[in-house]
Amino acid sequence: MAQPDRNLTNIDAPSAYRDRIASIDEDGKRKWVFPRKPSGRFYNARTWFSYLLLAIMFSGPFITINSRPFLLLNIIERKFIILGMAFWPQDSFIFVLATLTFVVGILLFTVIYGRLFCGWACPQTIFMEMVFRKIEYLIDGNANKQRKLKAQAWNAEKVFKRVLKHAIFWVLSFIIGNTFLAYIIGKDELFQIITAPVSEHVGGFTIMVLFTTMFYYVYAFFREQICTQICPYGRLQSVLLDDKSIVVAYDFNRGEQRGKPKKNSIEELGDCIDCNQCVEVCPTGIDIRNGTQLECVNCTACIDACDNVMDKVKKPRGLIRYDSFNGIRTGETFGLNFRNIGYSAILIALIFFFFLLLVSRSDVESTILRSYGTMYQEVGQNHFTNLYTVKVLNKTFNDLPLRLELLEPEGTLTMVGGAIKVSGQDKSEGAFFVDLSGDILDGTETKLKIAVHSGDRLLETVKTSFMGPRK
Ligand code: SF4
Ligand code: SF4
Repeated sequence: MAQPDRNLTNIDAPSAYRDRIASIDEDGKRKWVFPRKPSGRFYNARTWFSYLLLAIMFSGPFITINSRPFLLLNIIERKFIILGMAFWPQDSFIFVLATLTFVVGILLFTVIYGRLFCGWACPQTIFMEMVFRKIEYLIDGNANKQRKLKAQAWNAEKVFKRVLKHAIFWVLSFIIGNTFLAYIIGKDELFQIITAPVSEHVGGFTIMVLFTTMFYYVYAFFREQICTQICPYGRLQSVLLDDKSIVVAYDFNRGEQRGKPKKNSIEELGDCIDCNQCVEVCPTGIDIRNGTQLECVNCTACIDACDNVMDKVKKPRGLIRYDSFNGIRTGETFGLNFRNIGYSAILIALIFFFFLLLVSRSDVESTILRSYGTMYQEVGQNHFTNLYTVKVLNKTFNDLPLRLELLEPEGTLTMVGGAIKVSGQDKSEGAFFVDLSGDILDGTETKLKIAVHSGDRLLETVKTSFMGPRK
């Protein structure tokens, strides 16, 4: 995104923000960010919204629909339950389309609304800013106290605070790690791992420890580096955002020339009093007055900080606000452009196809093949039979008694060993003969259409072929 043509930086040196991220010094070493605790309407709204999301996330594995998990993503056993519906690897085309829809949705959303997701709904931001950071403020105090505590020698107070904080961080990481694990293996399996002796679940226990350690390391130490160095979504901002994207932005027209008003000074100043409050609250350590930057997760802390300052100096709020670069530069209001319309059209089409696939998804997946190594048999006068095997995967949770019917061409289908019954979430197989008159054979290969019924309900139709003699 284009930047205002003036030197607006006040981090270390002019334009330092263009050369390196704010939390890394010029020697490449990490600069620990001590953000001041934000306060204000956006912070309050985000706090309540994040509590809602946290409640949904933590209760997710325990919510059941008809005794089935609401969401289970068992990658290990390739078993997926979404909204109580079971999906199998055979449904991968639905997953591909769902992923495509999700990605296009994210792209479209980002083009229009920038990193709104990062600030309001990203699990990393929510856990970091709304859980771990709040605990840190409670134990270590606000930014200045944290700096002091870090600098001071180890004494009883520092040892107590550090042990307490990291013990709570570890317990929280354990809870978060186990919740994620419950989404993968299910709550029952998770309880077994927790309650049974470790020797019976060495694999599960190892994953549990790995998850806990990973979350602990991220929230206790790595923190904003995830957003600035690892998250691919953050990296994509430079190609997704344009001058019309809504971002957290500083109104440079209104704010510059910044400076602290002096008595009897004739210098004309903008509304920014250069108090640095917006920088002090920033969890990624940047100065938003430099324009949109890779590190900005749109957390709104600087909006609140600046609004509080504007209230004090009796100026209108919104010197830092949600707006587009164009909106600030020209006063132009938000509008759709060709890119937004193009992405929207693709997104609507993908959503449509996704729901179409979802509603037309069959309850069973049947594979019918002529029995391996068999030829046709001539039975009676001018009648031929082929032997088939049928494999059926039941995607539902109910047992299904199945009936096969030859739809095309005219002939008879006779099961070998009785009807097939396939239990819920299971596979079954059987065999059958198809008997056709030689008059209707279409050379060596005649197309067959076979219906799979359960009771009176047609589940799906399967095509296969019938081998006959050369004519
Ligand atoms: S908080 Fe507002 S007034 Fe203070 S430095 Fe930032 S933009 Fe300027
Ligand atoms: S610049 Fe403002 S919105 Fe962006 S990360 Fe910093 S405080 Fe949050």
